[in-house]
Amino acid sequence: MRPDLAEALKPFREDPAGSVLLFDLDGTLSPIVPHPRQSRVSSRIRSLLRGLCESYGKVGVISGRPARETQSLVGVEGAVYVGQHGMEEIEGERLRREAPARTVSPAIARLFRTWSSNRQVQDTGLYLENKGIALAVHYRRAAPGGEELARRLVSQALLAYPQLSMQEGKKVLELKPGETDKGTAVYRLLSGRGFARALYAGDDLTDIHAFQSLERLAGEGGLIEVLTLAVGGEELHPEVAQAARITLSGPEELEETLAYLAGQDHP
Ligand SMILES: [Mg+2]
Repeated sequence: MRPDLAEALKPFREDPAGSVLLFDLDGTLSPIVPHPRQSRVSSRIRSLLRGLCESYGKVGVISGRPARETQSLVGVEGAVYVGQHGMEEIEGERLRREAPARTVSPAIARLFRTWSSNRQVQDTGLYLENKGIALAVHYRRAAPGGEELARRLVSQALLAYPQLSMQEGKKVLELKPGETDKGTAVYRLLSGRGFARALYAGDDLTDIHAFQSLERLAGEGGLIEVLTLAVGGEELHPEVAQAARITLSGPEELEETLAYLAGQDHP
């Protein structure tokens, strides 16, 4: 364990009940994979999270995926699951959906229908992921020109549907309701709850909103301490590293961090 990281994690270990641990899913708790459907959370990560849920004040997974899908991929009872970049939340059994989310479904449905039958979309092999209240356009496995086509379609959609906004991620452009992001979700989870400190780990542009919310809560006195971790890898945007207090080398170092938080650093 790096000394700077161990030092930053120490207050969390010493007062787990007053500490909140929040994690992004893809690229953080699980490695980046060629297709979103191939994503898996290892049994080690799952068992570490299970243990952390028992001692820490709150453990949450904040993803761009739908909340139910996030919950089933992680598979840990007792954790909070926030999906669709903050638009859905599962705490216990109940799924809660943000109000703005409900108004965009017709636009998303229409765009998905039109783009699915678009010849250029088919030829370049863009993968359209219809999440009901958001539409992700993945160009990771597309033919050359796929990214440009994705950007053009999304720009046109933003002009046609002002209620939508764009969230960019690793080889993906996503249309979603404008009012929510991971930052608003994290703020809602933590504000006024009386926790002393919170940690957030993430690897992508959408996670910057969550980092900012933690810093804001610290500035307002809503939290005494915050720790933001950028999870590195070859696709790390420099803005993500700049927004975080510490940058980890990748999901392996995040796993080490979980083990340390669980008190497993002395074998
Ligand atoms: Mg991610």
